[in-house]
Amino acid sequence: MIPHNKIYKSLERRIKQLERNGLYESLSTPRVNLPFSPFFRNNFGIFTNPIMTTYYATPAAANYYNAPTHSHRQRGIRICDTCGSTEQPTVKPFRLCGGCMTTNYCSPECQKKHWPSHKAICQHTMAQVAATKQQPINADYPDENIAKFLRRFTSQHSTLLGWAGFQALQLKRVPSNVRQSALLIELIPRPSSDSHRQFAIKGTHIVPRTYVTSRDPLVAADIQRREERCRRAGGIGTAVVLIQCGAVSQVMPVEVDAPSKISWDERNDWAEVLAHFVDSGRTDFKPISTSARGVFYG
Ligand SMILES: [Zn+2]
Ligand SMILES: [Zn+2]
Repeated sequence: MIPHNKIYKSLERRIKQLERNGLYESLSTPRVNLPFSPFFRNNFGIFTNPIMTTYYATPAAANYYNAPTHSHRQRGIRICDTCGSTEQPTVKPFRLCGGCMTTNYCSPECQKKHWPSHKAICQHTMAQVAATKQQPINADYPDENIAKFLRRFTSQHSTLLGWAGFQALQLKRVPSNVRQSALLIELIPRPSSDSHRQFAIKGTHIVPRTYVTSRDPLVAADIQRREERCRRAGGIGTAVVLIQCGAVSQVMPVEVDAPSKISWDERNDWAEVLAHFVDSGRTDFKPISTSARGVFYG
């Protein structure tokens, strides 16, 4: 068991110290050397990690030729962070943790049970969002509410983003990639009053997963917890999708089903599909699966 509180306290101290020194300056040099892209060395300075979750409960792949059939408010499938049950919104909507606004629970009991192990990452996320708000507005921090906007955007596009991560890491063909690499989705702000239209895709990059996990012990611990839970349930592990705008990043862990359960078609055009849905502000993405029973969406 990792002493979350201890890590949190030291992080808190570090954040305060960094704030005194101005703009987290000492974090602006990445701690890992990345052979992947010169982009990181230059642009990856300050790093904040609200945690989002999405889940591969339904098999899928991409289709943007169909006309949208759902409301724009559709969101990804949510699972209870404690017991793993899946939300049936028409029966009983899940509750969101009011602190970090990222973990979901089926009941007050599950939320209460999770709190001792969730507390550290929850407070950490809150501290990161608060720190983001304090930053002066510039290219790295285009809006004081950037963390909130990113969270909403990610939540509305969670199925699409999770699917893109799955395709980018080629998890159907090479499941072990889940532990090696992560998908970084780079966004640029786009003025809009709709939360799902507030960003456009600037680029996508495959990065080593250690790029995410080596930076932040609390985030690494949370990913590890999901990884273990997912494997205990027969899944291949937790894919890491990093959603970044300016200097603010969000980690979206995606728990991936066992290979035998994955019926999503492999798609090499995932980056175009991703850009298409994001740019056209569509939140009705449904992955395509081709099985012996035919082709289906969702
Ligand atoms: Zn539950
Ligand atoms: Zn929380």
